[in-house]
Amino acid sequence: MKHFEVAVIGSGPSGASTAFHLAKKGISTVIIEKESLPRYKTCGGGFVYRGRKDLPFDIDTVVEREFHTVDIYLGNTLHFQTVRKEPTITMIMRDSFDHLIVEEAKKHGVTLLENNKLTGLVYEDGKAILTTSETQISADFVVAADGALSPTAKMAGWNEETRKLIPALEYEVEVSDEDFDRLKDLVRFDIDAIPYGYAWSFPKKNHLSIGVASTKKTRINLKKYYQEYVETLGIKTIVKESQHGFQIPIAPRTDGFVKNNVFLIGDAAGFADPITAEGISNAIYSGVLVAEAISESEGQLEKATALYNEKLNEKLVPEIQTGLWLAKWFYEQKTVRNILLKKYGQRFSDAMADIFHGERSYPTDIKQAITRKIKELVF
Ligand SMILES: Cc1cc2nc3c(=O)[nH]c(=O)nc-3n(C[C@H](O)[C@H](O)[C@H](O)COP(=O)(O)OP(=O)(O)OC[C@H]3O[C@@H](n4cnc5c(N)ncnc54)[C@H](O)[C@@H]3O)c2cc1C
Repeated sequence: MKHFEVAVIGSGPSGASTAFHLAKKGISTVIIEKESLPRYKTCGGGFVYRGRKDLPFDIDTVVEREFHTVDIYLGNTLHFQTVRKEPTITMIMRDSFDHLIVEEAKKHGVTLLENNKLTGLVYEDGKAILTTSETQISADFVVAADGALSPTAKMAGWNEETRKLIPALEYEVEVSDEDFDRLKDLVRFDIDAIPYGYAWSFPKKNHLSIGVASTKKTRINLKKYYQEYVETLGIKTIVKESQHGFQIPIAPRTDGFVKNNVFLIGDAAGFADPITAEGISNAIYSGVLVAEAISESEGQLEKATALYNEKLNEKLVPEIQTGLWLAKWFYEQKTVRNILLKKYGQRFSDAMADIFHGERSYPTDIKQAITRKIKELVF
């Protein structure tokens, strides 16, 4: 049986970037991926600048479009815009983007086992024995980067009951030349285009990625809101469209991020942003953190576990926890929120742009700040 120091399950941005950083430090690493690469991934493909600026290689070859200007709408009445020198959102298609990171990782010696679905995981004598649809290997550490539904986390004993996954529906849409010319230079978010959520229009090279996401798990007819949103965008002719639905985990797991020698990252850990459901940048960032923890531990499991938890608690997890509170308030206290947006909407948009650029995170005193603003407006 072949042995690796680290087995990474999943070749999305979290897994591929973990493998890249581990291999760069000379750690023998295998990626186990169930699909054949490049593979389609349901995603709006909006990659925010805080993720892009920290990538250690160039992604120009897979960039579809770059947006320095971002528009946020609230119904027909409010519209805010931010303009930045660096691209706030870079549009990518996930098949070529994810594949690029894997190829960069391979340059440093990572082994890729594609078409290998992980089907079994046992912990024996300090090692993991991993069974895939094609083979069996062993590893000192396992990094679960297998997305929102993470079969690896289930096999390793994590509890699924406590998770917060939200539904999202995304369409790859080809529209008429006339509609495309009108919409291709505009990236927009429409708050409340769907209950408790938002809709987006993300222009790619030759088509639009249009989607809707709701932060409520209750039954919401996503398709109906998508169709209404297409009307809001004034699209007259749809030449071709394909529908893709999936879930986004917008709350960190509550039963830890390490069990035995299995470490969770990206969507498997629940690291997407609770307000925007943007998950690529935190997926990559958590991949960097786990790679650092494993390499700094020099192979000692206890040390790697402590280091990873320490690194997560420095910034990433507290930031998402604050985001969770803010998202609940933002999407559920509509009336008060809209009053505040009327007065401070541009400030809110600027703050979101700062977050997208990694220039600030959600303020930890957000509860007090919002209460203060409400009091200012009411009294
Ligand atoms: C509709 C929608 C729109 C979104 N839009 C955006 C957006 O515009 N911007 C943004 O930043 N985020 C967006 N997200 C979130 C983003 O897609 C995720 O946060 C991100 O993909 C997480 O990356 P990951 O590497 O953790 O997991 P993934 O990208 O999901 O990768 C997991 C990998 O694991 C593999 N895998 C799964 N099971 C197994 C197994 N048993 N064995 C082997 N391999 C396995 C999968 O094939 C896959 O390649 C969106 C999500 C959805 C659903």
